[in-house]
Amino acid sequence: MHLTHRIQLNPTSAQADYLARACGTARKVWNWGLCEWNRQYAAGLRPNAMALKKQFNAIKYADPQWLDKDGMPWLRTIHRDAHAQPFAHLAKAWSRFFADLKSGTPAHAPQFKKKGRCRDSFYVANDKFSICGQTVRLPKVGEISMRERLRFTGKVLGATVSRQADRWHVAVQVDVPDAEALKHRTGNGVVGVDLGIKAAATLSTGEVIHSPRPLRAALRRVKIRGRRVSRKLETARIAAGFKRGGRLPKGTRFPVSNNRKKSKLELARTHARIAHLRADFTHKLTTRLCRENQAVVIEDLHVKGMLANDKLARAISDVGFGQIRQQIAYKAKRHETRRVVADRWYPSSRLCSVCGRKNEALTLKDREWTCPECGTHHERDVNAALNLKRLATATALPVASPTGNGGAAAGIPPVVVGKVTPVRYDCGQQDTSGQEKNHAHF
Ligand SMILES: [Zn+2]
Repeated sequence: MHLTHRIQLNPTSAQADYLARACGTARKVWNWGLCEWNRQYAAGLRPNAMALKKQFNAIKYADPQWLDKDGMPWLRTIHRDAHAQPFAHLAKAWSRFFADLKSGTPAHAPQFKKKGRCRDSFYVANDKFSICGQTVRLPKVGEISMRERLRFTGKVLGATVSRQADRWHVAVQVDVPDAEALKHRTGNGVVGVDLGIKAAATLSTGEVIHSPRPLRAALRRVKIRGRRVSRKLETARIAAGFKRGGRLPKGTRFPVSNNRKKSKLELARTHARIAHLRADFTHKLTTRLCRENQAVVIEDLHVKGMLANDKLARAISDVGFGQIRQQIAYKAKRHETRRVVADRWYPSSRLCSVCGRKNEALTLKDREWTCPECGTHHERDVNAALNLKRLATATALPVASPTGNGGAAAGIPPVVVGKVTPVRYDCGQQDTSGQEKNHAHF
């Protein structure tokens, strides 16, 4: 099982300087590769990453673009992996783009990376670095101390060094033997999880889990610090002789003052803190769900579509739905928990979890409702979670698919045509006989 451990680094300022330059190199090479790719494509050629890399290697120590002001090839000061790997990434980005085009999912062509706006990172191949205790030896910089030891044993596959605000991390990918990667499970429950904004997660046990919503809590601070940065930008703009508010010619660069750097870092650290708080919450929630249950049922939420709603976007991204889903996916594998994803059109809120009647009149505002058929009083989210839970057991309620597209999305033919909403099983076994295997694991 491939697992990645991301460890914070304690670089000296000279080391941090090298890391920043290596990231800049990776970015610049990516941009060069993409530019060249586009140019060749427009000229009717068929560019590929290997040929591009060869082409780049031929010019990288000679072309004036890649020489410093003394005419020296500065790329020699940066380790090779930082400027070789972007070509592999580029090839991957293009093949994903074309695969998306083919399958009809929204496709995005690779973009140029903008300094200060893109993620700063570079790659180091597994034979170029070594880890000993709490230090990592990277090429060209030497030993950098780490905040903790590498948690996994196994074959090291590679590492990525990245920056978040002013913190540096190394993410080490390890091929961990399954016996070590698998985690002990403390329970054998089946839980349905209804994700929402009011309560981040409502479990089928009736438990309501609230998200700390760190962005909402820190929004005032973010706005203040964002204003401080933009004021400094505005000052630089006026000092350079441009009018307030007008459009700038493309490629305009202002001198960066120390105070602008400082305020920018403050803003970045605020955002990083928000991200950390959110990650702490989602990790604790998803670990708990996977550790205590043999099956976790979640909805296939259309997060992108929900983010298009301006009024909800901030609240949705503050809970971290995407992270929750992603973390459940890999933690379920480690705990041998079955992850069940309900179809996007499964009407989990509208079904009565007792008799199965579908309440068509239910709107988003109704937090509670009473079933007209059996008279059960439902709390909206708990009822939805209960319906989701049923999908993991044999007692899934029959649902007539109202729009007819319920089955199309999941791609699995329903057991009873037009009656049962199909479900995607992502991990483990589909039948309950799989429990024996799970028990054997303890
Ligand atoms: Zn009912």
